[in-house]
Amino acid sequence: FLEGKRALVTGSTSGIGLAIARALTAEGAKVVLNGFGDADEIAGLCEELGATHSGADLTDVTQVEALMAEAGPVDILVNNAGMQHVAPVEEFPVDRWDLIMALNLTAVFHTSRLAVPGMKAKGWGRIINTASAHSKTASPFKSAYNAAKHGLDGFTKTIALELATHGVTANCISPGYVWTPLVEGQIPDTMKARGLSRDEVINDVLLAKQPTKKFVQPSEVGALAVFLCREEAGNVTGANWSIDGGWTAG
Ligand code: NAD
Repeated sequence: FLEGKRALVTGSTSGIGLAIARALTAEGAKVVLNGFGDADEIAGLCEELGATHSGADLTDVTQVEALMAEAGPVDILVNNAGMQHVAPVEEFPVDRWDLIMALNLTAVFHTSRLAVPGMKAKGWGRIINTASAHSKTASPFKSAYNAAKHGLDGFTKTIALELATHGVTANCISPGYVWTPLVEGQIPDTMKARGLSRDEVINDVLLAKQPTKKFVQPSEVGALAVFLCREEAGNVTGANWSIDGGWTAG
């Protein structure tokens, strides 16, 4: 149902963004990938998805502007690229704070402000922002991430109101722990560091806050993004969709 629609998915060379890109492609959208990674792997993804790729660093406004010019008018904008840093606030590296704000929040302002005129002109658009359970609740030592993701929720609600009569929706998707290579790779080190079994690491450390005791799968996030693109979701705007196994219900 997305034949003829053009989508830009930021941070889509791995993890959640790639799953969203795959899900949109499966519905017929033409996708522009963005993110870093091995050139051969990225070329393979472009071939698999019939997509193009931009390696723009979204922490640099000049590169965001070039990306948006290159991508042309997009019908679907998925702001997914994000990064994390874990440290007590008094030790939080200032450059990490600035980088997280630039990528997780400010880049979303830039891509959105540049995509909105085209969406308004067409009278149709979908802006989907990958936030996090940490856009609704906090964990210690993640001050920049939590602040940026809470800010992303506020930004999304604001533009949802501004665009409400233009056929353009804006929503957040807020995952809990998602099973990505990033998370999987932490398990052996955590087993060693804490002297725990694989099951203990998964259930008592990683999934401690996730009542279902199951990781969210990237493809489940992709399916939710697809739903938000449907015509039936035209009245779904300014919402922050939890997909966190019940984490933020508690
Ligand atoms: P990931 O590290 O697997 O992917 C991040 C993507 O962003 C990659 O494609 C990377 O190349 C790209 N990227 C990084 N810095 C960039 C930059 N400066 N410019 C452009 N692209 C850049 O991460 P993921 O786990 O798939 O996370 C994706 C989003 O989901 C993030 O916003 C993250 O905060 C959010 N999230 C993840 C989880 C989880 O458990 N994995 C949970 C909640 C929210």
